[in-house]
Amino acid sequence: MLVRTPTHKPTESLLGYVLRVSEANGYESPWHVLTYAGVDQGEMRTAGLPTSKLAAALGRVPDALDEISYCGVGEAGQREFRLLGHPLGRALKYSPLRLKRPAICSHCVAEHGYIDAFFDLSIVTACPYHRCTLVDHCSTCGEALSWFRPGLLTCKCGASLADVEIEQAPTELAELMAVLWALIHREAVKGGQAGLPARQLLNMPLRSLLLNLPYIGHWNRVDSDNENNADAITQAAAEALSDWPNGFHRVLRRIGHRSLADKSSAVYGFRKQFGQFYNQLFSNNSCGPDLSWLRDEFVRFGLMEWGESVVDPKLLRGDTTNARYVTKNELARQLDVSPATLLKWHRDGLLTLKEVPTKGDIRYVADTQSDGLQAPIPAEGSVLRMRAAAAYLRIPVSALNHLKATGLMEIRHRLKQRQGFHQADLDALRNRLIALSPVIQSDDLGDVVDLERILREYRFHTSALKAGFVAAYLAGEIQSIGRTDDTLAGIMFSAQAVATYVSDARSKEAGGSLTCQVVAKLIRSEPHVVASLQKLGYLDTVKGRESLRVSQESVDAFNARYASLSGLASELGSSSKRLLSLCNRGDLAVLSIPRSQGSPAPFIERENIATLQTLSQKFPARKPKAMDETRTVTAVKLYLTNLKALGAPLPRCGNKPNRRAIAMACGIDRGVFYNNQEISHLVDAYAASEDAGTDKPAPLLGTDALAHNPARLPLAA
Ligand SMILES: [Zn+2]
Ligand SMILES: [Zn+2]
Repeated sequence: MLVRTPTHKPTESLLGYVLRVSEANGYESPWHVLTYAGVDQGEMRTAGLPTSKLAAALGRVPDALDEISYCGVGEAGQREFRLLGHPLGRALKYSPLRLKRPAICSHCVAEHGYIDAFFDLSIVTACPYHRCTLVDHCSTCGEALSWFRPGLLTCKCGASLADVEIEQAPTELAELMAVLWALIHREAVKGGQAGLPARQLLNMPLRSLLLNLPYIGHWNRVDSDNENNADAITQAAAEALSDWPNGFHRVLRRIGHRSLADKSSAVYGFRKQFGQFYNQLFSNNSCGPDLSWLRDEFVRFGLMEWGESVVDPKLLRGDTTNARYVTKNELARQLDVSPATLLKWHRDGLLTLKEVPTKGDIRYVADTQSDGLQAPIPAEGSVLRMRAAAAYLRIPVSALNHLKATGLMEIRHRLKQRQGFHQADLDALRNRLIALSPVIQSDDLGDVVDLERILREYRFHTSALKAGFVAAYLAGEIQSIGRTDDTLAGIMFSAQAVATYVSDARSKEAGGSLTCQVVAKLIRSEPHVVASLQKLGYLDTVKGRESLRVSQESVDAFNARYASLSGLASELGSSSKRLLSLCNRGDLAVLSIPRSQGSPAPFIERENIATLQTLSQKFPARKPKAMDETRTVTAVKLYLTNLKALGAPLPRCGNKPNRRAIAMACGIDRGVFYNNQEISHLVDAYAASEDAGTDKPAPLLGTDALAHNPARLPLAA
C-alpha cells in the first residue's frame, strides 16, 4: 500500500514519475514501488514497463498513465513504443530512450519538481531553457546516474545532484534542443540565432528525427579522429544544421572532397560522388518523405554550389530548376550551339568547363554562371530557320553554320526552338561586317568581288575555311575596299587579294603541301614525273583533301639537289636531248625518271651544272651543220642529175662553171664551193664530162633521191 500517490504530470517522464512516487513515499529506490505494483524485475528499466500495473498500485484506472507510457497501440492496432504519444516504432534498436543511463537538467527538476519526458531521449544532451549540459553522473561518488536512486535530485550515495557542476551549451545545440522540446510538446518554437531549419525539423515525425539527427552528426564528423560519443554526435548534428543551409553545404563539401580524394573510385555523377551519404539518408525507405527538405537542399547544393559533378536527372524528380552546374550538352543546348562547339570553345579558352576525369574518360561540368558566358538575352523578333537565315544574310548555309559554330556569330538571343537563328543575332553579325567597310561609289571599282560571291563561289574546300575568311576580315587581316550597299553582297574586296587569300588558306589547310601540278612547275617537269618521283621516294607523299600531295619541304630538298635537263635546256637555249648526250660524253651521272609514256625524264645533280656548261661549250651543237652539208651535197647532185636528164648545159662563166648561177639554181649558198670540196669536185667533174663529150654517166644517187623534187629543196636557213 502506497501512502502517497501523486498524480503524474502530462509530460512527465514515466521512470521519473516512478522515482518521484518512490521519493514521496520515502523509499531508497523505486524498486519498492515497482515490486509492489507487480512489475517483473526484467521489465523495470525497459520501455515495456506495464503502466496498467503501476496505475492499479496507485489506485487509478488501468489507462490512467497511458499518456506517459513508453508503449501503446498504434493506429493500425499494432503495439508500438512511444514517448508522450509520439510513435517511436516497433523496435528500439536505435536506442532512442535513456532507460538505463538517465540524465537531467538539475535546474529544471529543481524548478518544476518533476523530470520531463524530454530528458528521456538519448539525443537530448542539453537543456533548452537553461542552455546548459545535463547531469548524467554524480560529482561526489563519480557514478553514472541511475533511476534506482533515492530522489529526483539525490544520488544513490546520498549526494545532491543539484550541486553537480554543469556547463553552458553551445547556442546551436541549445536551439536544436528547443526544437526537439517543441516537437515533443507540440509547441511552437521561437526563432533562434543559430539559424536552424526549425520549421522543417518540426514537421518531421519524432522517430525520423531521432534516427536521422545522429546520421547528420556523423557525416559532419567524418574527418574527426575524436571519439564519436552521443554528445559529440548531437553537437555535430546541431552544427551541420546551423546557419542553414550553409552549415549543411559545408558538411556536403567535406563529404564530397573526401570522395574526390579517393582516386580509386573516380566517379562523375553527383549522386555517386555522395553515394554513402545519399544511401544512408535518402535511400532509407523507413524515412519516407520526412527528409525531403534535406534531400531537396542536397540536390540544390549539387545544382548550384558543388560544381564538381552534374546532378543526375533522376535526382531532380521532375524539378527543372535552372541549375547552375549542368552537363556540357545541356549548356550547349542552352546556348544553342553543338556540344562539339562548346568543347572547342573550352579548348580555345573562350570558356572553362570543369574536367572530371573518370575511369578511361573525361567528363565535363559546365557552369552556366561562368564569367565567360554571356547569358542569352531574350528578345522580341522572329526566329529564322537555317535556310531562311542564310538567305536573310545572303550567305551559304554552310558558311552560316560555321560562323555560328565557331562563335564568330554571337548567339545572344535565346531561341524558342533549338534550330534556327534569331533575327537580332543575324542583324548584329551583318552590322559588324558592314561597319568594317566604308561606303564607296560603285563606278569603276576595277577587278573586285563581293563577300556574298566569295562565300558562295570560291573553292575554300571547307566551310571552316569559308568562315575563316569572315574571321580574317573581322580581324582586319584582309580588308574590304569598300561597300556599295548595306548587304554582304555590297562589301567589295580586291579579286587579286581574295585569290591570294584563298590559295594561301587552301595550302595552309593542306599543311603546306602542294599539288602535283604545282610541284611539276617548281621542279620544271611534268605531273606524271612528279608521281614517279613520289613512287621512287625522291618526293614524299602527303594525303591531301582531294588528291595526293607533296610537302613543300620535300620539293625544296629535291630542288636543292637536282635540276631537270629540260629545265636547263630552256635556260641554256638548248635541247634536253643534246644536254643528255653531253652528259654521256662527259660521263655525268643522270637521274632517269621513268614516265608512263616516252623516254625517261632526265635530272642531274646541281653541282654538275657547271661541268655541263663547260661540255656544252667544248662540244658546240654540230647537228645543224652536218645536216646542211648533207643536204647541200644532195641538192647539187640532184641539180646535176636533172641537168643531164634535160640535156641542159652547165652554166659557165667563160670556161669555168658559173658557181654563182649553180648555187642559185641549187638554192644553196655560193660559199659552199669554197668550204665543201665534194661540191667543187662534183661540179668540176660534170663540167669536165661536158667538155669531153663523153657518155660517162654522171655520178647518181639511188632512185629514192630522185623522188626529191623539185630540185630546189627547202633548207634550213
Ligand atoms: Zn533546465
Ligand atoms: Zn553519488
